[in-house]
Amino acid sequence: MKQVAAVTNGESIETRNTVVVLDPSSGEAIAQTPDCGPAEIDLAVSAARRASHAWRKVAVADRARVLRRIAQLIERDRDDLAHLEARQTGKPLRQARRDAEITSRYFDFYASALETHYGSSIPLNADTMIFTQWEPHGVTAHVIPWNYPMQIFARTIAPALAMGNCCVLKPAEEAPLTALRLGWLALEAGLPAGALNIVTGYGETAGAALTGHGDIDHISFTGSVEVGRIIARAAANRVIPATLELGGKSPNIVFADADLDRAVPGVVNAILQNAGQTCSAGSRLLVHESVHNVLVEHIEQAFASVTIGPALNDPTLGPLISQTQRSRVMSFLEQARGNGANIVTGGNALNGGVLGKGFFMQPTLIDDVAPDSLMGQDEIFGPVLAVTPFRNIEEAVRLANGTDYGLVAGVWTRDLGTAHRMIREVLAGQVFVNTYGASGGVELPFGGFKRSGYGREKGAEGLRSFAQIKTGVVAL
Ligand code: NAD
Repeated sequence: MKQVAAVTNGESIETRNTVVVLDPSSGEAIAQTPDCGPAEIDLAVSAARRASHAWRKVAVADRARVLRRIAQLIERDRDDLAHLEARQTGKPLRQARRDAEITSRYFDFYASALETHYGSSIPLNADTMIFTQWEPHGVTAHVIPWNYPMQIFARTIAPALAMGNCCVLKPAEEAPLTALRLGWLALEAGLPAGALNIVTGYGETAGAALTGHGDIDHISFTGSVEVGRIIARAAANRVIPATLELGGKSPNIVFADADLDRAVPGVVNAILQNAGQTCSAGSRLLVHESVHNVLVEHIEQAFASVTIGPALNDPTLGPLISQTQRSRVMSFLEQARGNGANIVTGGNALNGGVLGKGFFMQPTLIDDVAPDSLMGQDEIFGPVLAVTPFRNIEEAVRLANGTDYGLVAGVWTRDLGTAHRMIREVLAGQVFVNTYGASGGVELPFGGFKRSGYGREKGAEGLRSFAQIKTGVVAL
């Protein structure tokens, strides 16, 4: 089994204890990474602090050049990165290749965005010159989950580095390998040692030591609401800003006039992509009662034609990330069964045959889900779609907004008025009409309403999250 080191101050770090990384397609151990604790985190934060004095002063054009070079190296190694991502997460290879492409795009995009990111001047009166400028926070801490390790790495690191921050990132213990690889690529691209440090380990130890460290200036966290609360408290204790990108229970809302030929693949992909382990998964289907039966039938057929298999075979549906995650999904289904759930198809783990050693399950469709039930409210984080019919637009809005979350929503209609009304009334950070997810557009600001979090990443907004504005006032 391969031993992989952490990256601190441009050098490898190893620890006596390690964290074993499994291939979810086979259950096989594929690597061990350092089990970092407070001492290793302290080294990484100190390295970032030392590097930050110089990196913040590097000319914009030179910072942008380094980011572009990182993007090129990711392109160069795209196949390797995609294989590694597919192996450690179980996601189909095609998806992992796409993730690698988007990862590279983030660095290109933030290089360009940085070059056109200006402050402003404020014409208060004739005797004063007033201007604003953006300055980095200093040392930024980044904690990311296992579902899109490369993409989320780039989404949070590229804008932070662009604005002149120096970073310490902790990837999830389940899938740290591509983050480590990207850390080395950044050094190869000419990023100064210490500007980006990657520390591995468990959340309760490495993650807590990083987010509670006394010398960080900002936290960017992507993960569950539960851990988000802990992180928010750590930030509050030190009065530093945090960006929280948390979970979702996002609805796809299909109206009676929708083009079902477009809606069906959109709805199916929104829940099966990454085996439903996507923060913005379309895990609720709200459907007008007049097209309810026909839509459920179409989705059942689509689920029946799904290929399930190991990530590197490039199926439609790979495994879940771990045995623990699959057991969690199964326990939701058990409870739903106990409450008389109408499981149209799926609902089981795949325990036998060649897939038996991995963490696979069937795509699952549950009809007539009560909006206030566990299945209607909780983030399941698996390939499980909960269907609830509605009678009119008012009820659709009420159902769409009827959970604690507000990350993303999809609306399927041919009526322009319905589309705009839904965009206005649904409480979510992104609302899509007749599409879902916008193919990973790095340009689109992303983030939650309600308990899906606060702050925004992606797009030009992402740069602002990693900077603070200063106002200069000069009396003439
Ligand atoms: P998680 O919250 O369990 O873990 C996320 C990260 O936090 C991991 O690196 C983990 O090691 C670390 N962590 C755990 N406990 C910690 C602690 N006490 N202190 C500091 N760090 C700690 O989430 P997960 O299971 O890895 O990911 C799934 C969740 O992430 C889902 O809820 C999903 O919706 C959410 N997510 C959100 C977005 C978004 O952009 N909104 C994107 C992807 C995933």
